[in-house]
Parts: sequence; structure tokens; C-alpha cells
Amino acid sequence: MHGSVVDLHLHSTASDGLLTPSGLVKVVHDAGVEMMALTDHDTVDGLTEAQRRANEKGMVFINGVEVSVTWQGKTLHVVGLNINPEHPSLRNGLADNRQRRMERAGRIARKLEKAGIPGALQGAKEHAGDKVIARPHFARFLVDTGVVKDPQEAFKRYLTRNKPAYVATQWAELEDAVGWIRDAGGVAVLAHAIRYKLTGAWMRRVLAAFKEAGGQGIEVVCGSYTATEINTSVGYALRYDLLGSVGSDFHGPSPMGRGPGRFPVLPEGITPVWNVFAF
Ligand code: AMP
Ligand code: MN
Ligand code: MN
Ligand code: MN
Repeated sequence: MHGSVVDLHLHSTASDGLLTPSGLVKVVHDAGVEMMALTDHDTVDGLTEAQRRANEKGMVFINGVEVSVTWQGKTLHVVGLNINPEHPSLRNGLADNRQRRMERAGRIARKLEKAGIPGALQGAKEHAGDKVIARPHFARFLVDTGVVKDPQEAFKRYLTRNKPAYVATQWAELEDAVGWIRDAGGVAVLAHAIRYKLTGAWMRRVLAAFKEAGGQGIEVVCGSYTATEINTSVGYALRYDLLGSVGSDFHGPSPMGRGPGRFPVLPEGITPVWNVFAF
């Protein structure tokens, strides 16, 4: 596996990552990455600290965010890159999504309680701190209490669709999320499209709607993609004339996931999304 010197999808403790923004930048830099974006779920909280550290290390730092979206009942993730994190419509939109996260967290906890597991809201909040609350915080609580042996098992048994503590959530509209990102001067990138497990027909509908909304890029290489999945994504980028992004979706050291920059470089023939960033 060749390392990539660009990694535009990374998480910190501002959302569901395990490393602080500073800790993350150190690990990313040590991995040989020269250009990074911090893309926490529905928050820009970690950007100032990460940017400062990245600049100290001589890295190129891109302000990013990963926005949760609901489109036709399906949850999609849209990464905004090179955003102005101060832009009011983006800030308001992200605050709305965070409010939905808080409401969902209460409902997840009540469902866990019904399943015989009390104390989940408090327990998840201990992991989330005063930052964005996400399902991995519940997964870590379930590991703490010994209900499951690892976070993957928590997702598999409790937290995913059709499981006892799953809560369907109406996130931001696709058109709105792409609009905020563009208002904030950023580029909207469809994250990890293969992970949605959509049929070909649904994937084409998503891509058409994303384009129509003003989306300009797609993650062609993700940390966990196989060679076949990268090929499929190259096809989407070419067919829908989208810029290509690359990112690990690193959430912190884990026996499962790959580290920052641990993925193949962007295939030839795809225009890199970073070509359009103004530095
Ligand atoms: P949320 O946005 O709160 O619904 O949480 C989504 C996050 O949960 C993703 O960004 C991943 O970090 C994590 N996640 C989702 N599905 C799984 C899974 N099956 N196993 C482990 N982590 C997962
Ligand atoms: Mn996550
Ligand atoms: Mn995601
Ligand atoms: Mn992510």
C-alpha cells in the first residue's frame, strides 16, 4: 500500500474521533501526510486548534466538515472542504443538525433502557464531553458496561437499522447542506458513496440529485475501499463529472481501520478536488 500525502477526511474529539485536534495533527503528520482536512460530524469546533498545529508543522490545512443529510429517507454524508467556518448559514445549519443529534441521543438512551441497559445518555456523554454526540459514543458506553466486547458489536447488535436502539433521524436536506457549504466558499464532496449500500439505480439518483444541488466532488479513494470499490467510484466521478477526493475517515488508532494516508493515491484521469482550492 502506497501512502497518500493528501488526506481530506479525518475526525477528532470535536465529534466522534478519539484524538484531540492537536493529537490528530501529530499522528497525521507522522504518517507523512502533507495536506489534511479535519472533517468532524456537523461541527467546525476543532478547526482552529488543528489549523494552528498543522501550520506549526508546515502542513497544508483545509477547513472541513462532514454534514449529515437525509435524502429520500436515506442518510448520506456530505463533506465540505475549504469552507469558511464562520459563515452564518453554515453555522446555523450545523447547529440544527447538532440539535437533532441531542434529541436522537435521548431517544437512543430510552430505547437502550427498554432493552435493559440504563444510564446510556450519561454514559455516552462521558465519551462525547461537551462536543457533538454520535453513535460511537453510545458504542463506547456499551463496551464500558461489558454489554459488548467492541464498538463494532455495539453497532451490529444495537445501533444500526432494525436493531433495538436504532433511531431514524431526519437530518439536513441535501440541497440545504450543499448550499451552506457553497455559501461558505467550500466544495461539497459526496463521502464514501459505496458505504451506503445502494442499488445502482439509487446510486445514480443520489449522484444526479447531488450534482443538481451543486455538489462538485466525490470521494474516489477512502481508507477502507477495495480496488474494485475505487474503480466503481472512478466510474461515478467520470460519469457525473465530479472532482475526486481522497481520505481515510480515520477516527483514531483502531485494530480495524487504516491509519491516516494509508490508501492508494488518486487514480490518473480524475481531477483532484484540491486543484480548485485557493491557497
Ligand atoms: P452518527 O452520525 O451519530 O449516526 O454516527 C455515525 C458514525 O458511526 C460514523 O461516522 C462512524 O464513525 C460510526 N459507525 C457507523 N457505522 C458503524 C459500524 N457498523 N461500526 C462501527 N462504527 C460505525
Ligand atoms: Mn464518525
Ligand atoms: Mn461518514
Ligand atoms: Mn467521517
